[in-house]
Amino acid sequence: MACASTVLSVGGGIAGLSAAIALARIGVHCDVVELANAPLGASLGISGRAAEALDELGIYDQVYESATPWGRDTKVASLHDSTGKLLVAMPERPDWPGSKTALGVYRPALLSVMADTAKSLGVDVRRGVTAQSLQDSGDAVEVTFTDGETRRYDFVVGADGIGSRTRAQLFPDAPQPIYAGQMSIRWMAPGPAVQPEGWYASSVGRMGFYYLPQDLVYVAAVISEAEWVRKTDEEAFALLSGLLASFTAPAIVELRERLKPGAEVICRPFEWVFLPETWFKGRTLLIGDAAHATTAHMGMGGGMALEDAVVLAQCVAAKSSVPEAFQAFMDRRLPRARTVVETSVALSQMEQSNAPPEENRKLMGAAFATIAQPY
Ligand SMILES: Cc1cc2nc3c(=O)[nH]c(=O)nc-3n(C[C@H](O)[C@H](O)[C@H](O)COP(=O)(O)OP(=O)(O)OC[C@H]3O[C@@H](n4cnc5c(N)ncnc54)[C@H](O)[C@@H]3O)c2cc1C
Repeated sequence: MACASTVLSVGGGIAGLSAAIALARIGVHCDVVELANAPLGASLGISGRAAEALDELGIYDQVYESATPWGRDTKVASLHDSTGKLLVAMPERPDWPGSKTALGVYRPALLSVMADTAKSLGVDVRRGVTAQSLQDSGDAVEVTFTDGETRRYDFVVGADGIGSRTRAQLFPDAPQPIYAGQMSIRWMAPGPAVQPEGWYASSVGRMGFYYLPQDLVYVAAVISEAEWVRKTDEEAFALLSGLLASFTAPAIVELRERLKPGAEVICRPFEWVFLPETWFKGRTLLIGDAAHATTAHMGMGGGMALEDAVVLAQCVAAKSSVPEAFQAFMDRRLPRARTVVETSVALSQMEQSNAPPEENRKLMGAAFATIAQPY
């Protein structure tokens, strides 16, 4: 029998919704509070053990229906120069024995599947509401919500992302997110697939793209900038236009023609944060980006959040008390998350110092081999 019967997740992103699904599947009643009124975001890749975690959550097939599958012959991680010449066919990747086919997923589609699944399992997902205060009495947490309601839980999961308010409440002295020296630019280009897919590098920055069945091409770019200065929508648009103009590769020229004034271009700093010792205090546990956020150089942050959720439910099912379950969770999750955070940040630094691509691939290959092991 599970060591908890009621749980609250603060945050209904990938980590919070997947934790709610995993816990609901072992008979734990879960509530989720989420500040955003609708699922937001661009796209993400789910590969390796993370795809397996999606399967363990029981939603892989549904997500697959609205995703782009990446078989072993995918070119999505290949690298081209600014003219379109292929430089690297595929970076080294482990064999991921036994894991499911990797998927490129439109994030709102993924979050919709998750929210619908959670609701079908009896999870109460409330939007536009959050936890105002958490009172831990040792054997339960009494939560007062921003709508004035109060509920009692066996434990609380802080899944509120890199800017986690729950983290600040639990660990006021925890490190703050650190800017990695690079920014990400994302744009959903309307229309059919553009070929050849993959990454392209110019003197201005690096960009990659892939097709999604929503008839959108997900475009992601990385540009180095020593100090982060918040960008207006117009500045983000100008940055992307400038980057696209630095390529003569026919695929990028085609994308440039699709970029029209008014397009929604998202520009954000790459930031990271890692709690090096523990992610819980009393009966509140941080998971996902709230505990271990990183840059997208390995494309594994969301995958780590999915794995966190599955492992949390396994520990809650196997242990006889919440503190034991939290400790067992930490023992399994901390080293894996550390590998992803530290490697991603190192890859970002290597890119900024123009390290030879072989060094980059060696580091990435070693980290992928580590996380290819079962979680
Ligand atoms: C450019 C970029 C590309 C990426 N690409 C990939 C990729 O290809 N593959 C991959 O696996 N990962 C990728 N990632 C990482 C991935 O996006 C994150 O690791 C993942 O979203 C973490 O999920 P999360 O649920 O922990 O946090 P979030 O996705 O940030 O979700 C947190 C949720 O909590 C809500 N919230 C915040 N505060 C509160 C509050 N006080 N109360 C209630 N709700 C609150 C937010 O609205 C949000 O919905 C990428 C990241 C970036 C920046």
